[in-house]
Amino acid sequence: MSSVGELIDAYCLRCKLTLSHVVLFEMGGVIQKVKCRTCGAEHKYRGPKPEMKPGAARLRGAKVGRRVSASPSAKSEQRKPTLQEWTRKCEKIKDEGDIRAYDLQKSFQAGDVIRHPTFGIGFVERLLSETRMDVLFEDALRRMAMNTKAP
Ligand SMILES: [Zn+2]
Repeated sequence: MSSVGELIDAYCLRCKLTLSHVVLFEMGGVIQKVKCRTCGAEHKYRGPKPEMKPGAARLRGAKVGRRVSASPSAKSEQRKPTLQEWTRKCEKIKDEGDIRAYDLQKSFQAGDVIRHPTFGIGFVERLLSETRMDVLFEDALRRMAMNTKAP
């Protein structure tokens, strides 16, 4: 079940409260990033309460400095095919002018090429609904929100 584009209670570090957030994108069915509807800050999803999964810390191969909260094995499995596919698609970009800036409130179509401020170039693989799409980025396939209404 996907919750991209929906509202969720999450802990906001800026507001220091558990508040209503919009789900921005998820990966492998796990919510990755949310946007606080109170202060507008975008941040990683930590759940309604901070520090929910103490067991995740003992996974081996933690060479990435940041905290990995969700299924690192699934992530490493999909890393290489994703990069190959992404590189192949990049080679097909004919005109940089076709690349659209990612915007939460705009709508996109399968086949669109987008540029995300954090993830870089992405390819819209498919739309799941009017407000959700799967986008292939260099490092992973992410489920992104789109076409959301301004608050
Ligand atoms: Zn906030």
